[in-house]
Formats: sequence, C-alpha cells, structure tokens
Amino acid sequence: MMKKSIEDISIDGKIVLVRCDFNVPMDEQGNITDDRRIRSALPTIRYLQKHQAKIVLMSHLGRPKGNPDKKYSLEPVSKHLSLLLGSEVLFSEDDLVVSDKTKKNVKEMKKGEIVLLENMRFRKEETENDPDFSKELSSLGEIFVNDAFGSAHRAHASTAGIAEFLPSVSGYLIKKELDIIGSALENPERPFTAILGGAKVSDKIGVIRNLLNKVDTLIIGGGMAYTFLKAKGYEVGKSILEEDKIQLAKSLYDEAKAKNVKLLLPEDVVVAEEFKNETKFKCVQKDKIPSDLMGLDIGSQTIDMFREEILQSKTIIWNGPMGVFEMTNFAKGTEAIAKALAESTAVTIIGGGDSAAAVEQMGFADKMTHISTGGGASLEFLEGIELPGVAALDDKE
Ligand code: ADP
Ligand code: MG
Repeated sequence: MMKKSIEDISIDGKIVLVRCDFNVPMDEQGNITDDRRIRSALPTIRYLQKHQAKIVLMSHLGRPKGNPDKKYSLEPVSKHLSLLLGSEVLFSEDDLVVSDKTKKNVKEMKKGEIVLLENMRFRKEETENDPDFSKELSSLGEIFVNDAFGSAHRAHASTAGIAEFLPSVSGYLIKKELDIIGSALENPERPFTAILGGAKVSDKIGVIRNLLNKVDTLIIGGGMAYTFLKAKGYEVGKSILEEDKIQLAKSLYDEAKAKNVKLLLPEDVVVAEEFKNETKFKCVQKDKIPSDLMGLDIGSQTIDMFREEILQSKTIIWNGPMGVFEMTNFAKGTEAIAKALAESTAVTIIGGGDSAAAVEQMGFADKMTHISTGGGASLEFLEGIELPGVAALDDKE
C-alpha cells in the first residue's frame, strides 16, 4: 500500500509537526561531528518553508533514559540547522518537551517560522509509545510529517503513536528511502546482486532469508563468511565464528541452491596474527587458513571475483563491510568493493551504518545511487518487516 507524502496534502500556512532523525554524533564540547542526518532533513523543511507552514521539528538524541539531561539537549542541532538553512531555527528549551509555555509559543508562531522542540526522550513516555503523550504532542499542530527514517523501525510516541491523532504523511527523506529501496526489492532491474558482510551472521539472518527470494546473486564477505566457510567444511582458525549458526549457514546455502541463487563466498582471505592494525598478515586460500591466524579481510582473488559480479549487475544492495575496515591494513576489500560499486552503472544502494560510513570515508558517496540514512531501519526494511513509523502513515486512496 502506498503511503501519502507531503505532496499529497495541503499544508499551506498550517502548523506542521515534523519528526526528524537528528540523532547525530557529537564530541565532548557538543560539536556535531557528522551532520548527514541533519542535511538529509533539509528538502522537507525547505518545502514546508516554501509553503509558509509553521514548522515544529521533533527528534530524539542519544539515550537520556526518559529524564531531562542537558548533555542530550537538541539546542546544538537548532544552531547547526539554522546555519544550513540560512534561516533562524528557534529552540524550545523545555524539560517537559510540551509544557504550557511551549504550547503557547507554538500557537503564536508566524507563517514560515521554525521551532525545534527539546529531545523527545526527555520524556519516558516517548519510548513507551504512551498514547497520552502522543496526544499531547499532536495537540501542538494540525499535520504530522514523519521524516525520521532512522527511527521508523521504532514504534514510539513521536514516530508512530502521534499518527493516530493527526493527518499523517511522509516527508521527502522517508519517501526517497521507500521509493528507492522499495522498488529495488519489488521490481529490480536484473541481474540483482546483494552483497552482505559485517561481523555476524546472526545480525543478518532475516536479511539473507528475505533477499534469497529476490536476488540473482548473493555475495557473502566480512566476518560472517567464516561461519559459511566452516559450514562447507573448511577450517577457519581464529576467525570470528558463530558455532551455533553453522547449521543455519548450511541450510541457507542449500536454500540458495534450491532457489537458483548464485551464492559466492571468499576464495581467499587475509589472515592476521592479532586483531589489530600493526600485526603480521598474509593472503591465503580458503582451504589453507592456519589454525593460529584470523581472517580479517577478503583476498585479492576474491576481490576480482566479486568485482566481476558487481560489474555485470544492474541492481546492487550492499550491507556490511568486507573486512575490519576500521584498520587500514584490512580495509582493502571493503574499499575495492566500494570502488567497483562506484564504477558500476547499476542502481547501487548502501544500507547499514558501518557500510555507509565506509563508503563516505573512502570518498565514493556521491557515486552511489542511494546511501540509506537508517542503520537499523534499513536492515529491517531489507528483512521485509513493515516499519511502524511508516505503517502508521495515511494510505494513498
Ligand atoms: P553495518 O553497520 O554496515 O550493517 P555491521 O555492523 O554488520 O555492518 O558490521 C560491521 C563490522 O563488521 C565492522 O566493525 C567490521 O570491523 C566488522 N567485520 C568485518 N569483517 C570482519 C572480520 N573478518 N572479522 C571481524 N570483524 C569483522
Ligand atoms: Mg553496524
């Protein structure tokens, strides 16, 4: 079912409550160290400004545990947002988030004005999805716009509950995430390849299951590859291994075969003495992993094999780094895959917090079709789970 977006509703001059995901990393001094999430909210805010809406922004920041805590105040975000927008964003200093003072201030807003409310999680009712709190929030405005894709997998008062009380639509960010990832999953141009990596199989079981029904090729790298290699009878030394998932890896492998999905595992890997950058390492074939070494990256032969598959694909979804990319000696596999995606003419979608960070860090971000802003949310979306923050929105007739 298609959901309504801000383009499907009249917002001119109305008080619009917008749930954003301004959960950005900050340093000790409160400086924002990565503002991607704030920047990705700009299209929706600009559209609302153009339509002379009275814009009330909501977000959470960190985990203040349901109590006011200055350390988690959204005030720095209001300042940064003002700079990015080139117009003033007022900050509503309010430990209760929606006290009478805030209600009065919102009532007196002028058209085109923007105010950012205090951290939703200063109220414990937020994560409890308390209907009374949702109702209280909803009383501030006339329309609810959800643009917090990164929080859409949580049913909280300001992401889902509030939609019970107001006409509710998606903003541009959620719309874009649903459009691009949704159409890749439902109607991909083929060949369709998924690349999965990261530390653990257990984090990605749902994703593998769902994607096995959709892709032509499934590439597995990263730490989770070792559980698959073990399932195929290879010894993996000290590599990360989930003993209790070996059987599952076996059955996923069989499932891929039954569904005619080409499943690719590393042919060679980079093995190291210790889990740190400054250590001895070398490249070995998958059947020659020494018992005292650990695999921390894919090898050069594997890079070539994965790269070839990538360049033949028309739709690619990538989730999870190919190795311990945080250490430069073991970042080569991840970097080579990012480069191959950047060179490909396919629709390229990056999901997952660490994969997105790797692609940004390595300078390939602007070469991708789409980098999802939601870590957990994009994973659940790839698993085929309906996101509560999306489900709560009004259906298109
Ligand atoms: P994403 O956030 O993109 O979904 P994950 O969180 O699942 O990715 O996985 C990222 C982590 O996986 C990184 O911290 C990386 O160091 C780790 N990782 C990748 N390959 C290995 C490996 N061979 N051994 C141990 N950890 C690995
Ligand atoms: Mg991660």
